[in-house]
Amino acid sequence: MNSIEETYQQLRAEHEALIQFLYLAPVGLVQADLDGGIVMMNPISAQLLMPLSRDGGLDNLFTALEGVAPELRHLCSDFTSVAGKICDGLHVHLNAGGAARKIPQILAITLLKLDAQRIMAVIDDVTLQVRRERQLRQNDAWLNAILTGIADYALVGLDARGAITEWNASVGRVTGFGQDVVGQPYSIFYPPDATTPERLLDRLRDAERDGWSLDEGKRVRADGSSFWGSALIAPLPERDPPCGLEADGPAYCLILRDITDKREASERRRREAFGDYLTGLANRRAFFEAAEQELTRSMSVPRPTAVIALDADHFKAINDRYGHPAGDAVLQHLAAILVETFREVDVVARIGGEEFAVLLPSTDLPRAAVVAERLRASVASQVVHFDGQRIRYTVSLGVASLLDGDGGIDLLLKRADQALYAAKRAGRNRVERWRPEMASGPVHQPEGDRKHA
Ligand code: GH3
Ligand code: MG
Ligand code: MG
Repeated sequence: MNSIEETYQQLRAEHEALIQFLYLAPVGLVQADLDGGIVMMNPISAQLLMPLSRDGGLDNLFTALEGVAPELRHLCSDFTSVAGKICDGLHVHLNAGGAARKIPQILAITLLKLDAQRIMAVIDDVTLQVRRERQLRQNDAWLNAILTGIADYALVGLDARGAITEWNASVGRVTGFGQDVVGQPYSIFYPPDATTPERLLDRLRDAERDGWSLDEGKRVRADGSSFWGSALIAPLPERDPPCGLEADGPAYCLILRDITDKREASERRRREAFGDYLTGLANRRAFFEAAEQELTRSMSVPRPTAVIALDADHFKAINDRYGHPAGDAVLQHLAAILVETFREVDVVARIGGEEFAVLLPSTDLPRAAVVAERLRASVASQVVHFDGQRIRYTVSLGVASLLDGDGGIDLLLKRADQALYAAKRAGRNRVERWRPEMASGPVHQPEGDRKHA
């Protein structure tokens, strides 16, 4: 008797646990007979199925699902085995016509035959899951389109140390590298000596700190040819592996882009805006911009700045005698000597027809005068060959300097012009330094108003 009581208690406890399980299960569970008559169901299944009920009642599973899954009844009656899976995760779309809810709800239904009398339905709301899967597939399609369709980008995965983790078509297209880049540091895309292992890691740290890091410069392809590229590195989120595990996926993505065309166009625009078409030297505008920058710098950290103004002598006569194209050739010849004579930091510009100016940062008057004299002598010693003609010409030069930029480029150039005027007056083919007594004198100003706009 005691043992029957015990068995009863045990069964009761098991039953309670089962009921509890039914209640707590995150899916709908329905037990029904072979005709769909519902014997038992948990609250979630009631919640999922109730909207399908036409009369507010829920006593038959097949009737409830008639409108959305009429095949269930037949699947069940056609299932001849004593037990087993009648259907597995059958997707049923509710309110697909878009009645009350905007987003169609999707249920996954699994039917199990338990024995000759009973079936069990497992009903799961998979709306979000299906949507997420669809989104993932869409993202994949997007990424694929980018990887295969956009010609001048390479998308490269990097691990935490900057080694390439995977190869794809875009890498091959932009850089020409094959699968064997995997495992190599991303510096393989940089010219030799253009970066160091420390720099490489610096960029990863920058990306970590700022969210991304961008650099632009020469890059190389597998065949050694170079292109102008921009490289954006961004950290990838959620890449920390669960503790104890090695990270295997990429930690950063590197987007390498061939911007050669863009760069050439912007270089061309720059040349057009700041270059002189005939000589390739800086133009007037570039000269004043560079000069202003330099003089501003020299005001905060005082240092001398010099300007040499020079003008071809009797240039009108050269044109008259040899022709205008010959005059052009002379100007180009003079430009070449100028480039040869001055340093990389000096700004050599053609600021008028046959007038040039050179800005010499950190240079005092005596030193500028020495260079000016060297230039004068060099011009006077050379011959320009043009169209079978031998043309000799000379230049006059005026030199001035300011100690701390005070007065600006206008004053500096004005003084150089006053000295240039003096050089012309003194017979041409000579260098004059600016002296205080020239301050109120005339400037060499044959090209009209020289004040820059
Ligand atoms: P000076 O020694 O006093 O400077 O005499 P100059 O003849 O050089 O001076 P002027 O200003 O009278 O003449 C400048 C000449 O330069 C006039 C102009 O036709 C010529 N010129 C200006 N720009 C160009 C150019 O781009 N090409 C050519 N071939 N000649 C130019
Ligand atoms: Mg002249
Ligand atoms: Mg002139």
